[in-house]
Amino acid sequence: MRIPLSSPDINEQDIEAVAAVLRTPHLSMGPELLGFENSIAQYVGSSNVVAVSSGTSALHLCIRALGISDGDEVIVPSFAFIAVANAVRYERANPVFVDIDPKTLNLDPERVEAAITDRTKAIIVVHTFGVPADMDRILEISKRRGLWVIEDACEAIGAEYRGRKVGTFGDVGTFAFYPNKQITTGEGGAIVTNSSEIASKVRSLRNQGVAAPGSWLAHSDIGYNYRISEINCALGISQLNRVNEILERRESIARRYDSALASTSELRRPALIVPEIKVSWFVYVVRLDRRFAVTDRDWIFDEMKARGIALGRYFAPIHLQPAYSALLKGKPMLAVTEFEARRTLALPFFNQIRDEQICEVSENLTKLCRAL
Ligand SMILES: *Cc1c(COP(=O)(O)O)cnc(C)c1O
Repeated sequence: MRIPLSSPDINEQDIEAVAAVLRTPHLSMGPELLGFENSIAQYVGSSNVVAVSSGTSALHLCIRALGISDGDEVIVPSFAFIAVANAVRYERANPVFVDIDPKTLNLDPERVEAAITDRTKAIIVVHTFGVPADMDRILEISKRRGLWVIEDACEAIGAEYRGRKVGTFGDVGTFAFYPNKQITTGEGGAIVTNSSEIASKVRSLRNQGVAAPGSWLAHSDIGYNYRISEINCALGISQLNRVNEILERRESIARRYDSALASTSELRRPALIVPEIKVSWFVYVVRLDRRFAVTDRDWIFDEMKARGIALGRYFAPIHLQPAYSALLKGKPMLAVTEFEARRTLALPFFNQIRDEQICEVSENLTKLCRAL
């Protein structure tokens, strides 16, 4: 693709940080891991951080550490990345899919409350596309009903809710560092928690369930190899050093798209931003107006592709995936998720995108909408 959907922002300092690790004998469980965990702790303002191999393994370890298992229910959005539901299934618990607020595309707290049963143990609240969820209401419900809150901030590093970084509101929070995220380690993830008990549990599970850090052959649990290498951690430290710069750049790209598409009434631009939140721009997603059909969205996708411009169709609802539809007794009623998911188009969004490219994407998109 001439204009890709995403692209990592790797500079010379990142390369040097990675090369420096390769000149040492420490390639796993060394000083870079500690440094990366400390940098995340400082940046998000959390007392415990455990870095792991991916955002998915971070979510899985949260489910395991909270003791969620066979037949338990966990409330999750269906308009989300599939890992959110998979992490629940790894422990044979059941994801209960709940509909979203069409404005923010995040879980609708009212519907969360309605979905709670005697078997509900937790809510996985996702800050979709970097837009913070309504944490006041989610936390109020979880406290009153005695539920864990797992905050999936994998798309939202640096986003804020009432002046505090997301990821730190729940019992546990997760981050991910795949190359399309705001900052990357190649592959990687992290768990943040203010509970030192949960932190030591996930630290042990990350490394084969060792009884104590450094005790390689004494195992208190059946754990995993969810470790992250020193190479990935060095890249993470280097990326996190300029996270503010990266997030500002992304904000300015979003503003440019906003103005380039301001008069394209065929599209709805990303949510109106309310004062209590600060968005961390993960992707820039527009939605086709309701007069268009799904086939129109797919036609635009193909036409843009033919012009060398990559678009994304985030997200295909999880409850409609073959991997899940067989599992669900009766189809959940998720009208907003199904309606919105058919209309989304993620636009090319990466730090190095040039103004002319933003204009080219916006102009082509507008023309194609008007040709329908
Ligand atoms: C990216 C992402 C994850 C984790 O992704 P990995 O590829 O496993 O690092 C989890 N949840 C959400 C919402 C994500 O966007």
